[in-house]
Amino acid sequence: LDREEPSHFGAGPAQMPTNVLKQAALDLLNYQNMGLGIGEISHRSKEAVALINETKENLIKLLEIPGTHDVFFLQGGGTTGFSSIATNLNQAYIARHGKVGKAGYLVTGSWSQKAYEEAKRLRIQSEVIFDARNFSQDGKFGIIPNEKEWSNKIESLKDDLSYVYLCENETVHGIEWGPELPKCLSDVEVVADLSSDILSRKIDVSRYGVIMAGAQKNIGLAGLTLYIIKKSLLSDIEKFNKEFAGKFEDNVHVPVTPIAFEFPTAVKNNSSYNTIPIFTLHVMNLVFRNLIAKGGIEQQQIENEEKAELLYRTLDSFPEFYNIPVDKSCRSKMNVVFTIKKDGLDDLFIEGAKKLKLTGLKGHRSVGGFRASIYNALSLEAVTKLADFVEDFAKKNM
Ligand code: PLP
Repeated sequence: LDREEPSHFGAGPAQMPTNVLKQAALDLLNYQNMGLGIGEISHRSKEAVALINETKENLIKLLEIPGTHDVFFLQGGGTTGFSSIATNLNQAYIARHGKVGKAGYLVTGSWSQKAYEEAKRLRIQSEVIFDARNFSQDGKFGIIPNEKEWSNKIESLKDDLSYVYLCENETVHGIEWGPELPKCLSDVEVVADLSSDILSRKIDVSRYGVIMAGAQKNIGLAGLTLYIIKKSLLSDIEKFNKEFAGKFEDNVHVPVTPIAFEFPTAVKNNSSYNTIPIFTLHVMNLVFRNLIAKGGIEQQQIENEEKAELLYRTLDSFPEFYNIPVDKSCRSKMNVVFTIKKDGLDDLFIEGAKKLKLTGLKGHRSVGGFRASIYNALSLEAVTKLADFVEDFAKKNM
């Protein structure tokens, strides 16, 4: 049971550590010598419960999650998070303030845009705090405006804001917020989508109301989403259910949350209100164990910074050949997006890369060009191979 180490730069589902997959494959057949695979046991068995608990503990350790926050897992992906966050947090605000609040969205790329559209579709009162396209020269995503440009809006809406939503790393456009959240968000409930950069760098969990991350990029396989939530928000949602549900329908639409996506229900049932995809969870736990054994996030962050620095430096050294459509201040360390300025070379680039077994480099269909996703599982060696190819290709085709 083995494979040649891939160099796959796909954005997700993404390459995983080979040792994790080997262990997962064995456990899919026979878990802990039970004569049954991990996907065949009840999600309420003692083995499954122990696994859920260990996965939570490992995440708490890796991210240094404070006691003020809880961790849970839900079926689905980032998109189910867009909907469940909107309804759950809308209710939390109503319970605390006795009135309907407004959700504020910081739109920096297509994933935060989609999250906003979903809140609107569910008829949650929401507002775009800023759309980053209005701050760029070409009207496209590629910059995160300085907080001086939009903190006034936060200040003026502050008392009405049920939450402020941001996508920490825009996977399609290659745009990442700094590891420190803007100061003007200190007094609001920050909700962040970390689907494509969770566990890539240190963060201060205490600053977030909710963190949501689909698994299929840095932490595992598709099908499971992890949530980290402030406990006070859970109590607020429970209070809404007891005291406010059904009370606002006459004049304001307040959607209730489908039960499988109700946050307090998930937490009270240890992420097993309904059947948790236990194999997917096991893979996530193997990724966590692997990261802990490697030296934790600190070590991973050093590696990730080195990989991103190398690739951006190489692209930047051929400014007449490559273009990076993202401002230097917010270049993603996970998804490196670039184009070739000369027409007609894109296919040649992809083919040349493939010959060297460098795969998954095509940009998102909405953006074009190229995207090298250099998640935790991509080694410095793989990124070095890519950087060498990027350099060679420019020299030969300039
Ligand atoms: N959020 C981000 C940052 C993503 O990159 C993606 C998918 O690539 C999603 C949300 C949507 O995830 P899913 O396809 O699991 O719904």
